[in-house]
Amino acid sequence: MKVMLVILDGMGDRPSAILGGKTPLESANTPNMDYLAEKGINGIMDPIAPGIRAGSDTAHLSLLGYDPYGVYTGRGPFEAAGENLELKPGDIAFRCNFSTVDENMNVIDRRAGRIKERTHELAETLNGMEIDGTSVIFKESVEHRAVLVLRGEGLSPRITDADPHRLGRVNEVKPLEKGAERTADILNTFVRKSHELLKNHPANIERRKKGLPPANIVLPRGAGMVPHLESIGEKYGIKAGVIAGVSIVKGVCRLAGMEILNVDGAKGNAESDFRAKISAGMEYLGRGDMVLVNMKAPDLFGHDGDPEGKKAIIEKIDEAMDPIKDILDHTIVAITADHSTPCDLMDHSGDPVPLLIAGPGVRTDDIGNFGERSAPKGGLCRVRGCDIIGILLQLAGLSEKFGA
Ligand code: ZN
Ligand code: ZN
Repeated sequence: MKVMLVILDGMGDRPSAILGGKTPLESANTPNMDYLAEKGINGIMDPIAPGIRAGSDTAHLSLLGYDPYGVYTGRGPFEAAGENLELKPGDIAFRCNFSTVDENMNVIDRRAGRIKERTHELAETLNGMEIDGTSVIFKESVEHRAVLVLRGEGLSPRITDADPHRLGRVNEVKPLEKGAERTADILNTFVRKSHELLKNHPANIERRKKGLPPANIVLPRGAGMVPHLESIGEKYGIKAGVIAGVSIVKGVCRLAGMEILNVDGAKGNAESDFRAKISAGMEYLGRGDMVLVNMKAPDLFGHDGDPEGKKAIIEKIDEAMDPIKDILDHTIVAITADHSTPCDLMDHSGDPVPLLIAGPGVRTDDIGNFGERSAPKGGLCRVRGCDIIGILLQLAGLSEKFGA
């Protein structure tokens, strides 16, 4: 038997006045998820632990059975892994922006006019540099975004950001603990060199001619050390894949040894082709044991504080789930969220998320629709995110007995 875990990113919500006191999921018309709720068992899940406001990265680590408190030091490594960089345990990775500074090193545009062209050339100028015996790996990502990896001996992720996160002076990177001084120095050198090498780069000369802000500096943030994760294969003896539009989720899964399945139309936003993602997931189960499908869009509407939009996108995703009904005779299907992103809060909350599991042999309950209010009355009660993979593999007959 196979396992399909569908994550509607940030789907969990709180009652909304605009929706007459219902949550976006409750107020959405979701015949397919309601069908699965009725055929299966329902409950709520604390992605990490009760009351913890999870990020998408730490939540996905937990859902895959890892302890985020043990392996997570910052977002950088997961972002870099999502960009297909070959990482080694101990590497220090950062998310970066190409930005614009004036001659006094004041940031005047954090996104360099949302630069789209020639960022590969700019990145190549910085990639492969050596600073104090440390190798610099640098790669452009979407628009003004990029990732930086420092590889060498004795590095620490415990340093501040160079990115001031607002307009104004570029931050001097500081160590956050003893032993991190050298890493802070290396990062300061990198930022200074990025300005020296980029300010008169042909791509920026062209930009200035066109009246566009030059991408004349790189500002790193979110330092983290690449953890050694025992792969899903080693941990559970299964072959697993992931379909996700956003690099952070791909990165977590990649470091967990999962196969990244690229789907045309998986964009990580509301324009994503949800149907293509579901069918690619079903197809993968022809050769793999488990697939995780992440749909990012509900989280974006939560951050925008748009309950109507969130409701509409949940309905669109529900429609795309129609074919799942046909695989229920040989697949354990779970539908949940990685955290709640209440529209009223416009950020992640520590509220638990609804969870349903359907498939052969799954015990049922009396719940006939999927929602924040109905799910806790179901037979699963309240579970932790880190238990979900064990629960699913057990139902699919893919787990080993503990004891005689
Ligand atoms: Zn998320
Ligand atoms: Zn979010």
